[in-house]
Amino acid sequence: MDYKEKDFSNQYREQVKKFKPWGILIFVDFILIIAGLPFAYFVFNLNSTGIIIYLVFCALLLLVCVPFFINVLKCPNCGKFMGRDVGKYCSQCGVRIRE
Ligand SMILES: [Zn+2]
Repeated sequence: MDYKEKDFSNQYREQVKKFKPWGILIFVDFILIIAGLPFAYFVFNLNSTGIIIYLVFCALLLLVCVPFFINVLKCPNCGKFMGRDVGKYCSQCGVRIRE
């Protein structure tokens, strides 16, 4: 078998599976910032200090997820960053990462 056709799609699928809960957390965090902020302001009548604490909390939550997000964009074979659009093959070493 040609080295370039090496199949890492199973490993990559596991990698994506591990990331899923963090992906959901990132999504929820964005909802909290976009939809939750007017709620905090108008419904719960938070003052500016409350709003800042709320935003800092959301930012910290997002920051915690960033390493996991970067990790899911790394190749399971060479460990290099594959860029934002992950294709069928690793753009760095050429192994197959998707079926
Ligand atoms: Zn690679």
